[in-house]
Amino acid sequence: MTPISTLDVTKIRQDFPILQRKIHGHPLVYLDNAASSQKPAVVVAAVSGYFLNSHANVHRGAHQLSVEATDAYESARAVVADFIGGRTKELVFTRGTTESINLVAASWGGANLREGDEILLTLMEHHSNLVPWQLIAARTGARLRFAGLTADARLDLEDLAAKIGPRTRMVAVTHVSNTLGVVNPVAEITALAHEAGALCLVDGAQAAPHLDVDVSEIGCDFYAFSGHKMCGPTGIGALWGRKELLEEMPPYQGGGEMISEVRLDGSSWAAVPHKFEAGTPSVGDAVGLRAAVRYLTRLGLDEIHQHETMLTEYALDRLTELDGFDLFGPRTGRVGVISFRYGDIHAHDLATILDAHGIAIRAGHHCNQPLMNHLGVDATARASVYLYNTHEEIDALVEGLLAARKLFGGFA
Ligand code: PMP
Repeated sequence: MTPISTLDVTKIRQDFPILQRKIHGHPLVYLDNAASSQKPAVVVAAVSGYFLNSHANVHRGAHQLSVEATDAYESARAVVADFIGGRTKELVFTRGTTESINLVAASWGGANLREGDEILLTLMEHHSNLVPWQLIAARTGARLRFAGLTADARLDLEDLAAKIGPRTRMVAVTHVSNTLGVVNPVAEITALAHEAGALCLVDGAQAAPHLDVDVSEIGCDFYAFSGHKMCGPTGIGALWGRKELLEEMPPYQGGGEMISEVRLDGSSWAAVPHKFEAGTPSVGDAVGLRAAVRYLTRLGLDEIHQHETMLTEYALDRLTELDGFDLFGPRTGRVGVISFRYGDIHAHDLATILDAHGIAIRAGHHCNQPLMNHLGVDATARASVYLYNTHEEIDALVEGLLAARKLFGGFA
């Protein structure tokens, strides 16, 4: 049954000034949320308020502004950790999902992987959850393996289970695919990894903005996500990790903030999470992310998810009625990331034509080149929804596609 949206989207849209913009004379229809979300005014105000009133460097200062900045930064850590059901000391601020995964691959992987060890990924991983593992595999002699997909482009759990063995040290998997929109059963995958004595890292870039994530329910060892996809600023994200693991792992980068004592002949490290935060952190962005998390929490992640599910159902109903519309990925068990082909119009042409109508979608390989090869395409068009999107915007997308088809004089 299609859920009923309880979000007041008209009111929510007023929180996002950019949504009032016109693009090429048309009202903006922003359907590129899987790449990055827009920002509510409260987030921008939190960042500017911090810089206008409370900025100083954190942690070392004895003066009032440094105390205020430190309090704001550490309070942001507590709020963001709580958002995903983690403990404050287990939350490392990073630049985003990419840096979080690089941190685990370099630090945990560098310390623990040996020749012949296996890292199990899937065919649907974003390059951010693939290339860091390639780098550490090349350094350590570990081997990458890949779980395949079913015919309807879901993760093939049987294949994944069969590829977990005594040599598997890490299973790293995306929670939600940024191309297919499928939601992977990460708790089940974690349990399979743990049974074999392996760890599990979950790439939550596409999940944390949309689902009520609880790392203790998932049971995973690491969870990575980005602020900019969840109404927060760019340049800030987080790695949540189990405390015992973070404590055992060597530092990722060296410098100020991450040390306990520095001598000429060696150094000792600060306690986690600071051990992994070398240099002056992005305090203003952390404050912005705190505001974003509070904003999303006030609206309710379940309510946001329900709204998006309803919009996605509506979009799929309308789009799949169009001649020549071809959806990548399954109809069910998915979120509002809709990748498609439309007749023989190349995805890039489609995105350009839609842009002329004020409609922002993405075209390309979505940092999923191995998945594109598997699907037999070089690119897909991708429309992705968020809490502020409306039925009327889906209608505009459908109209835009029909106009593109007309421009091309029908399909070959
Ligand atoms: N993983 C997934 C599934 C993603 O969709 C993205 C962003 N497209 C990333 C990782 C990388 O996120 P970021 O660029 O914010 O580090």
